[in-house]
Amino acid sequence: YRKTIIAGNWKMNKTATETKQFAEELKPILPKAKWCDVVVCVPACNISTAVRAFKDMRVSIGAENLYYEKSGAYTGEVSADMLKDLGVKYVIIGHSERRQYFGETDATVSKKVHAALDAGLLPIICVGESLEQREAGITAEWIALQVKSALVGVSADKLRKCVIAYEPIWAIGTGKTATAEQAAEVCTAIRATIRSLYGARVARSVTIQYGGSMNPSNAAELLAQPDVDGGLIGGAALVPQKFVDIINAAN
Ligand code: 13P
Repeated sequence: YRKTIIAGNWKMNKTATETKQFAEELKPILPKAKWCDVVVCVPACNISTAVRAFKDMRVSIGAENLYYEKSGAYTGEVSADMLKDLGVKYVIIGHSERRQYFGETDATVSKKVHAALDAGLLPIICVGESLEQREAGITAEWIALQVKSALVGVSADKLRKCVIAYEPIWAIGTGKTATAEQAAEVCTAIRATIRSLYGARVARSVTIQYGGSMNPSNAAELLAQPDVDGGLIGGAALVPQKFVDIINAAN
C-alpha cells in the first residue's frame, strides 16, 4: 500500500546550533511512530548537522531544494549527488515559495524531479493553486497540469519513489487551513490524475500529503481523509511538541 509521511519543512529557519537543540528536545518525546515516516527538511547548510543530530531517531533528513545539473559552473547551487552523499533521503521540489520568489517553473521542477530520482533521492513534489485560481474555479485543471508537468518522462517504477504534496498557496503561513473537504477533494483529484497516467495500482501506492497551516488542532481531521496520506508542515514543525502532536494525530 502506501506510507503515511509527516514531514517538517523548516524553510529558512534554525541555525546549526538550533538544529541540534531541536533534535535534543525531540528525542525524549518522539513517539515510536510505526504508523508513519517522519522527515525533517532543513536548509542545505545544516544538512550534515541534522544527519548527525537525528541519527539514532526514526527521522529521515530531507533537503528543501536542489539544482538539476550533475556538477559544474553553477555558483551557489547544490546537486542531487551532493545531497545523497550527505545522507539525505527526501528533497522538496517546486515549493510555491521557490516558484514565487526564485523563478521555478513547471519545466525546472520536471528537471529537478529527474535529477532527484536519478540520484536515488525521493522527491516531495509540491503543487498548489493561488486564491485567484481557486476563486476562478480552475483549481482542478491547474493542479492536474502541475502534476502532469512534474511527472513528464517519469516511469511507473520511479513514480513509486515520488511523494506529491498538495499545498494551496492561500493556506501557507496564513493560518487559513484548507477545510478537510477541500484538502480531500484535491488530493483525491491528484490520485485520479496519477491513475489516468499510470493505472490504479501505481496510483494507490503514491503518498499524497497536504500542507498549509497544518497544526496539532487540525491535523487529525485532515489526515483522516482517505487520500491525505501525510502532511508537509511549516511553522508548526519548528516546535518539537507541536511536531510530535501532529505525528500522533496521524496514528
Ligand atoms: P505552514 O505550515 O507554515 O503554513 O507552511 C506550509 C508549507 O509551506 C510546508 O511546505
